Amino acid sequence: MPIHEKSLLTPDQIMTADKLVIDGVDVSGHWNTMIKPRTITDYDPDFYKKIEGLPGGENVSRCWQCGSCTNSCTMYAINPDFNPRYWIYCTNLGLQSEIVKDKDIIWQCVSCNKCTNICPKDVKPEGVMKALAHWLELEGHTPKSKSSVFDEEFTRQCLARGRIEDSEVMFNFFKKTDQDVVRLVKTGWLGVFIARMNKWTELRAGRWGKFLARMPITGPLKMAWAMVFKPRTKSWGRTGEVLAAYVEEQKRKAHAAH
Ligand code: SF4
Ligand code: SF4
Repeated sequence: MPIHEKSLLTPDQIMTADKLVIDGVDVSGHWNTMIKPRTITDYDPDFYKKIEGLPGGENVSRCWQCGSCTNSCTMYAINPDFNPRYWIYCTNLGLQSEIVKDKDIIWQCVSCNKCTNICPKDVKPEGVMKALAHWLELEGHTPKSKSSVFDEEFTRQCLARGRIEDSEVMFNFFKKTDQDVVRLVKTGWLGVFIARMNKWTELRAGRWGKFLARMPITGPLKMAWAMVFKPRTKSWGRTGEVLAAYVEEQKRKAHAAH
């Protein structure tokens, strides 16, 4: 397979003559830069099908490499190595090893969807980033991500009871990801979040009236009640079982592609 991606070339494959005149025209230096023919054989022509089979990757083969996704990408602006266009190129060419090389940054996509909005071919690059991260996880190149753990807990509750309880999702998520909730409340982001939600700044400033007026009372009580009694959606019946069977079928299909 011939390749065209500059980053896949090594310096010894690029030829530039310092002095070159052709038919009286001086084309010295970069004007005469040529790439030596290179052929790769270690590629999987069906790799894109695996990514197509994962949620978000369905349209990966539509890409025509315009680069608009990378140009608009929030993460690319911070780190030029974060390059959705390049990973989509590698996917369609079957260059799995190139994807694996970037396993530590692909997951950093922040799902801002700027790329998806601008893509002229409806590739949905944000979805492709998720599918690639998912593939890396399935193949054991990366450990199970926290977002996968969160998704599993969220799905488990949806299927079991037809609804989720925010507090239970968060509690089980922290537990399954070995996060110290007490520390997060005392010194981490959770403490800041709760303090802001509860207007503790008003309390510290001695404005008791404003603090009490904004203090949520029924919300936490409802959450605690739901944690204990785990309510189900009315008439949930067999719906959960049917949905669970569908989810399993989709998982089997995705795994079969691997
Ligand atoms: S914007 Fe769309 S078509 Fe253009 S390179 Fe990105 S994914 Fe491909
Ligand atoms: S969704 Fe991800 S890949 Fe797309 S622009 Fe945002 S950070 Fe970049």
